[in-house]
Amino acid sequence: TDSVQVKEGKANIRLPEGAVFYNPAQVYNRDLSVACLRLVSKRHHENECKRIQKNDPQTSCIPFEQLSPGVRQENGLKIAEALSATGLRSIRYAKEIPGIDTIYANDIDAGAVESIKHNVQSNDVQNLVQASHDDAMNLLYSHRKPENQFHVVDLDPYGTPGQFLDGAVQCIKKNGVLCITATDMASLCGNNPHSCYSKYGSIPLHQPFCHEFALRMILYSLHMQAARYDRIIEPLLCMSIDFYVRLFVRINYGSAKAQSQLGDIATVYNCTHCTSFFFQPYGQASLDERNNAKFRYAQGPPVGTSCTHCGSNLRVGGPIWLGPLFDHSFVSELIGSIEQAPHDSYAYRDRMLSMLYVVKEELPNPLYFDNTKLARIMHTQVPQNKVLRSAILNAGYRVSSTHARQDAIKTDAPHEVIWDIMRAL
Ligand code: SAM
Repeated sequence: TDSVQVKEGKANIRLPEGAVFYNPAQVYNRDLSVACLRLVSKRHHENECKRIQKNDPQTSCIPFEQLSPGVRQENGLKIAEALSATGLRSIRYAKEIPGIDTIYANDIDAGAVESIKHNVQSNDVQNLVQASHDDAMNLLYSHRKPENQFHVVDLDPYGTPGQFLDGAVQCIKKNGVLCITATDMASLCGNNPHSCYSKYGSIPLHQPFCHEFALRMILYSLHMQAARYDRIIEPLLCMSIDFYVRLFVRINYGSAKAQSQLGDIATVYNCTHCTSFFFQPYGQASLDERNNAKFRYAQGPPVGTSCTHCGSNLRVGGPIWLGPLFDHSFVSELIGSIEQAPHDSYAYRDRMLSMLYVVKEELPNPLYFDNTKLARIMHTQVPQNKVLRSAILNAGYRVSSTHARQDAIKTDAPHEVIWDIMRAL
């Protein structure tokens, strides 16, 4: 049959003519995933070395940098790509990441599995990548026993990953990593609250901060699924990119810890007029800790009251994850490893680095505001971004950009301080 040949990273893929499988817009997603999983593999390899040397101090360990991609590594990463289409992503992982034991490239579609098989052969990675023809649900649920679990599960569906989260949290080993793509931004950004609620159990808010809100709703949903099995979530890198979101989250075990994450979940009150947002976290102990130490934010007003700034009605959104979206040591190491990689390793090298530099400086305070929109609501002049930022700094608060929206502002200043500053500028 007629086909098209595509080269991406180190993979050469044949696409069946007319198939809608290949999405060039997702090259960035795959580049970022290769870079992140390289780091996950490095950390896994170093932990394995420590474990082996603890049992037998005589054993020598090959440094990660000296391992070759494409060579099977005993006790290396076991990866499941549950929705694989052409196998492209799995083949890139196999050819670009050292330290891999096995990758399952799975798809429900028979035609897709044919193309996975062909591409695995033609890229000569049959030692690492195993084609699998199954419903992703079956694949995940049949790998729940500890001896069958994966170190990494990658979910890259069309639209929502919602229905796969329950299976995914169960088949990930302790300290494993779940990678999630969601492209259903219309419902996550509030165009269809009913559909968002049914997928994630959370109510979206149609606001300028909706992209970060989307990440935080997905993390809430994941936290809920994980907590049922006494597991906790530790976000490594959660980003909003173009028309989708991509999350890399470590899954750990422990019931007391799972309960303590309650303080990281909150209902959000959002003013229907001035767009101010307030948080009402679920866990009281953690709320006190937060107010004292980690970061300050506006605490939610009791239900039934109106916005403290403009007196308008409040609407309820969420629940959302209030905790961090990034692990800073992971992000720093990721930047270092992309900088050190040969320049032609990633088509989107520069864009990845520039986004990650922003991520590295991002404040942990949830959500952000858009000064143009706020100025319109307040009937003030639109202040220059850098003028507004230095005014907030001068008032004694912290301020940063967000990777999720150009020109938006993240700060730990309370809304009334921002309002005063906007009026004074
Ligand atoms: N991960 C691929 C990549 O990076 O090139 C793209 C995957 S594509 C967005 C989604 C794939 O999921 C399609 O090939 C579709 O056949 C498959 N799919 C849909 N529902 C599925 C299910 N329940 N189980 C397994 N595969 C499924």
